[in-house]
Amino acid sequence: MVDYGGMKKSRSLLLRQLPGVDELVRSEALSAISEKYSRTLLIDTARAVLEQVRADILEHESGKEVVKNRVARSVEEIAEKVAESLDRFSGAGLTKVVNGTGTILHTNLGRALLAKEAVDAAMVAAQNPVNLEFDIITGLRSERDAAVEALVCSLTGAEAACVVNNNAGAVLLVLNTLAEGEEVVVSRGELIEIGGSFRLPDIIAKSGCRLKEVGTTNRTHASDYAEAVTGSSSILFKAHKSNYEVTGFTAEVGLKELSGIASDKRVVLVEDLGAGALIDMSVFGLPKEPVVGERLEAGADVVTFSGDKLLGGPQSGIIAGSRDLVDKIRRNPLKRALRCDKMTLAALEATLKLYLNKNDLSSRLPVLRLMTREVDEIEENARKAALLLRERLGAGFTVEVLESAPGAQNGSVIGGGSLPGYMLPTTVLGVTHVKLSAQSIYNGFLASDPPILGRISKDIFLLDMRTIELPEDLLPNNFV
Ligand SMILES: *Cc1c(COP(=O)(O)O)cnc(C)c1O
Repeated sequence: MVDYGGMKKSRSLLLRQLPGVDELVRSEALSAISEKYSRTLLIDTARAVLEQVRADILEHESGKEVVKNRVARSVEEIAEKVAESLDRFSGAGLTKVVNGTGTILHTNLGRALLAKEAVDAAMVAAQNPVNLEFDIITGLRSERDAAVEALVCSLTGAEAACVVNNNAGAVLLVLNTLAEGEEVVVSRGELIEIGGSFRLPDIIAKSGCRLKEVGTTNRTHASDYAEAVTGSSSILFKAHKSNYEVTGFTAEVGLKELSGIASDKRVVLVEDLGAGALIDMSVFGLPKEPVVGERLEAGADVVTFSGDKLLGGPQSGIIAGSRDLVDKIRRNPLKRALRCDKMTLAALEATLKLYLNKNDLSSRLPVLRLMTREVDEIEENARKAALLLRERLGAGFTVEVLESAPGAQNGSVIGGGSLPGYMLPTTVLGVTHVKLSAQSIYNGFLASDPPILGRISKDIFLLDMRTIELPEDLLPNNFV
């Protein structure tokens, strides 16, 4: 007990000897950088670091342990920690990462990479005044979506189109405009949830509409829809099953048949297409995703889709369909709240223009380029990357070039809620170490500059070379 009291005393003595916030801020190390940061930030950070030091001291059994474990206590040591913390804070935020996950449209990594043409257009819009809502020929005010609308119409055959911030916004705006206070009829098999808390029933509720579910999870028939539509229904809503499949004993009603029911009952047929392919992906040997133009042709009155999934542009949501409906949608005050900024519109316009020349598309549009890369090219790249990486990582590490066939555990995926269950062939690098676990290697790559994100499969750290175009990207500056 005597001992215990002694230890406590020495810890509390250490706590009392800690510098105060004022002393820290006035210290040599911090006064040297005090001009770089606001005083509030400096004081808040010093306070937070001191708190942490106090907690570190209390975590130890005795004052002796604190000293033995070299817990920072002097003004210089703590000031150094404050400076580091400020550095981290000002360097934090969006930063380039290397995508070695094999997921091409990785929502957490920002989905589609923009084409050079789109990046250039966004830069011009960012740095200069542009004719965003100004018609150069007439000198009058114009619509900000006009250029994108013309392109979407010519690429899909739609009569009219407009753009908002993302597809979730597009669905919200369409529902709110065309069915506020009324019923939206949806099959139970299509009450989708997309990552990032997009849940169709919630969006319908937030749009001010009432959801009317029809059919069952696996089977919905035309008669289910026909019987469900009443005088208070306004929309027959179809949602693309972007990120799941229903297989086995199933039935769903095709768009043509739904369109017949919708016009008989005088309601609007809306389809949320999700990925928004503008061309048939099967010409590239990929599974077919719904093509916007084909869905309109088949009878959808209005469709919505994302700009940053298969389309390969900036984050945006496109609404396309019949002129009277799109005009109504455009006039909804919510459209103003959901409108895109000039950089997005410039990048989207440039991306859509690439579709006008189909021959060049798969080399110029990064999403398509990554999806259609030849396995031989990926493998050659992987071999180069393996050589570089072996040299950089040094003793203890092994870097193996591993083949992967479609359907295998380590195939690449498209992601972003597109082509669920479909795997692309790829080549991966398997990185192992005599002592380190796969998780430690994963952490090491993630802590490098730039951070490199891979995945762990069967206890091996893997870097998927389908989503890494430059072997040099795998040479982090500070890998430890
Ligand atoms: C991705 C997706 C959405 C959400 O689109 P965002 O552009 O991410 O807002 C909505 N519906 C479907 C069917 C989707 O695939």
